[in-house]
Amino acid sequence: FSVMEATDAYLDRIERFNPELNAYITVTRESAQAQAVDIDNRIRKGELTGAMAGVPYALKDLFCSEGVRTTCASNMLSNFISPYDAHVAEKLKAAGGVLLGKNNMDEFAMGSSNETSAFGNVRNPWDTTKVPGGSSGGGAATIAARLAPMTLGTDTGGSIRQPASFCNITGIKPTYGRISRYGMIAFASSLDQCGPMAPSAEDCAITLNVIAGLDSRDSTSVDLPVPDYTANLNDSIEGLRIGLPKEFFAEGLDVQVGAVIDRAIKQFQAKGAIIKEVTLPNSHLAVPVYYVVAPAECSSNLSRFDGVRFGHRCENPKDLLDLYERSRWEGFGDEVKRRIMIGTYALSAGYYDAYYLKAQQVRRLIKQDFEAAFKDVDVIMGPSCPTTAFGIGAKKDDPIAMYLEDLYTIPVSLAGLPGMTFPIGFATDGLPVGMQLVGNYFEEARMLNIAHQYQ
Ligand code: GLN
Repeated sequence: FSVMEATDAYLDRIERFNPELNAYITVTRESAQAQAVDIDNRIRKGELTGAMAGVPYALKDLFCSEGVRTTCASNMLSNFISPYDAHVAEKLKAAGGVLLGKNNMDEFAMGSSNETSAFGNVRNPWDTTKVPGGSSGGGAATIAARLAPMTLGTDTGGSIRQPASFCNITGIKPTYGRISRYGMIAFASSLDQCGPMAPSAEDCAITLNVIAGLDSRDSTSVDLPVPDYTANLNDSIEGLRIGLPKEFFAEGLDVQVGAVIDRAIKQFQAKGAIIKEVTLPNSHLAVPVYYVVAPAECSSNLSRFDGVRFGHRCENPKDLLDLYERSRWEGFGDEVKRRIMIGTYALSAGYYDAYYLKAQQVRRLIKQDFEAAFKDVDVIMGPSCPTTAFGIGAKKDDPIAMYLEDLYTIPVSLAGLPGMTFPIGFATDGLPVGMQLVGNYFEEARMLNIAHQYQ
């Protein structure tokens, strides 16, 4: 079948299911159809080959896409049309992908439930009274409901892995620096990393082949060869040493989630993997460290939204200060404001050493815990999150409960390690559970192989 037929099939599903799920903020119907015609022609002429040619996809709405509204799910950017493409958007376009639209998310990627979006919450396709997770919740719902075969999310403290777990899909956050952040609207620059979300590890591998690699426009992007991520999917995992961090199986983990995780670990054992217990003794400090580092960086990054250059501008400002204050007050939602205030405080003279510097020191200890663990094991496994998808509204007014969602994902982000979630089954409440897999630096190919072997 043609690219046009595939594109139309997805556009029809979006039209049917998006009104209820709210997984897309913007659907680029006309440009997708125009792209499909062009790609069909180029494929026919033999000008375009490769696994991504003709594949429809979506993007989280924080990737700048040329000529398309890019909102970050914020009133601040509700009318922002990007004049350029993010690095990854450029790559997918050049590989012949067809952009279907932009996925809903938590505002500026701050959240774990997709409820902080200025464009309304997203519903979990498995149970529409539940959240899809966040912040890449629109993307996870999109893949689960087959409103696109692939999308890109971002993960700062768990935003690919947690929604992937809630929606029964596969998502990978590669090593920090593996993929360029150019054109990805920044939240916390030392943590932000983008990655694919799709039904399977193989789909993620195909996408990574296109988007990974050095880009001179992001000084933290790493100059290492990009392997073919699909090449080793079928390798045997016999003898693989899997570490289970004892801190991830302690108090806080829901028993039904634990039971599904145990079952999956036994399956790996049956395939010849060796299970060992490891310890990450500082992991309980990860959430507090993250909530100093991430807000500090966000307070700095979001200072560019001042109502002058782009984004929302208030009506009739009295003077420049009034313009800044009211534009930001009106443009940002509550969670974003909370983080900007915490971050500004933590970076203030007199507090910097006590909070930010201290947090950076503990961050180093967390990284060293992983380095020690990887001396004994090849990969680490455990739950992606402590619970299955929770009810819409259940944690909305309790930021601390919401922050604890990322108990198991944040340590990995602070260490800059690659982490992924893949589906392993359903808990007794009927909701999906994902396994978190953590690899050593730049071991994404091995991780995809392991996830692929589970299926
Ligand atoms: N839930 C975490 C937060 O609110 C992580 C978000 C993310 O990874 N973008 O910051």
